[in-house]
Amino acid sequence: MADEKIKGSCLCGKVTYQFSGPTKVFQYCHCTRCQKITGSAHASNIIIEPDQFEWLTGESSVGRFELSEAKHFASSFCTICGSSLPWLTQSAKAMIIPAGTLDDDPKVKPIHNIFFADKACWFENVNDLVKYDALPTKK
Ligand SMILES: [Zn+2]
Ligand SMILES: [Zn+2]
Repeated sequence: MADEKIKGSCLCGKVTYQFSGPTKVFQYCHCTRCQKITGSAHASNIIIEPDQFEWLTGESSVGRFELSEAKHFASSFCTICGSSLPWLTQSAKAMIIPAGTLDDDPKVKPIHNIFFADKACWFENVNDLVKYDALPTKK
C-alpha cells in the first residue's frame, strides 16, 4: 500500500510522525555510532525518501545532533524524554526511521546487518538466548 501511512512516536508522546511507503531498506546497523546513539547492540533503521515523511505533533521538541566528521550520520531525539526519533542524513538524501519508535506495523522486516565487523564484542544473537514473555519468573 504505497499511500498507507505508518505512524510513530517518542516515549512521552509529545512528538509524533508518519510516513508513507515504499521503504528503501530495513536494516540493523552495528556501527559504533549506532551503538552509542541507541545505547544498544545495533540500530534498527528503515530508510525512506525525505518527502515521504512528516512530523505530526511536537516538531519544536525535536532536537538534532550532527556528528561533525560524519558524511551522513546525525541523530534526532525528543528533548523531553530523550527517545531517538527519525533523522535526516546530513546529505539530506534520506530519512532514517529508528524502528523502535514505530506504533504501526511497517509491513517490512530487516533484510541484513551492516557494519557487522564493528559489532559489540558482547553481541549475541537474540534467538540463541533463553526467552521469557515478560520479566524472568522466579525459580
Ligand atoms: Zn518524548
Ligand atoms: Zn550505524
